[in-house]
Amino acid sequence: MKTLYCAIGYICNERCRFCPCSEGSANVPSLSYDDICSAISKSIKEKGVENILLSGGEPTIHPDFFRILKYIRNCNVNVSLLTNALRFADEEFADKMFSIIDGSKLDVTVAFHSHIPEKHDFLTQHNGSFERSMNGINNMLKYGVKLSIKNNIVNYTYKDLPEYVKWATSQFDDHVTLLFCNIDINGTASSNKNNVAVDFRDSIPYLQKALDVIIDQRKLGHKRTVKVLTTPMCLVDPYYWGFIENSTQENVTAYKVPNSDLLWDISSDSGPLFKSCQDCELNKYCPGTWNSFKNNFDESILKSIHSE
Ligand code: SF4
Repeated sequence: MKTLYCAIGYICNERCRFCPCSEGSANVPSLSYDDICSAISKSIKEKGVENILLSGGEPTIHPDFFRILKYIRNCNVNVSLLTNALRFADEEFADKMFSIIDGSKLDVTVAFHSHIPEKHDFLTQHNGSFERSMNGINNMLKYGVKLSIKNNIVNYTYKDLPEYVKWATSQFDDHVTLLFCNIDINGTASSNKNNVAVDFRDSIPYLQKALDVIIDQRKLGHKRTVKVLTTPMCLVDPYYWGFIENSTQENVTAYKVPNSDLLWDISSDSGPLFKSCQDCELNKYCPGTWNSFKNNFDESILKSIHSE
């Protein structure tokens, strides 16, 4: 689907230790309502955009968030939202949101970091965020949103992945998608990289054990969608390749962020971007990983794949 990616402001109500935005980005003025509407309108008219992806920072704390939603609703296009779900813990906020937009027409991705409240709160640097985000998620589910829960794989929690999956699948029914994503080591994540960055060779065995939990559940008839993003296929046992999603190779049709013009056809900062990828037979299917991997790890661990 042709998408406008719009970071409507970099201010956030959490301070995640692995955020790819720099600490200073919260001082950058958010986009105005008029700038956002203009970007949406131009993207629809000039590029045929069908989906508006609202991101941040935390998009729900933009002072004109509800007006922006009304504008998008009146444009008759799809809305996607990347959020930490904190504001949805407030039932009044959730009621207002879903009086504007039908929950079943909204794709929401919630970043969720651990099944252990203390670890989640440590990573967000926001006491009580685990409980508030859980309340927010449950409020959204009442309104029928299409929900994905995204776990960012970091040094502090990667060994917990199998237990996290057992917990997540016990909390959320099969309609909720689970995403696993490796982090972009930029901004705050780069400053904290000793705490958050993890070598694929350490994390992938735990990720595979987590996927075994899903495989066992599928044998029992569960149909949950589970996707692994930004993870090089050459480092994953082929048995698990069916979970790997390569959508990161798709260009973003339109791109608007604070302090920047509206841009067209932006390529992702992740993909099969490494020396070994050039002659790899999987380079059309593999999501590769973030470009920032080059600056933090030895890229020779990536091995091109050939059928002979
Ligand atoms: S070499 Fe590159 S394209 Fe090939 S599997 Fe590894 S990361 Fe993917």
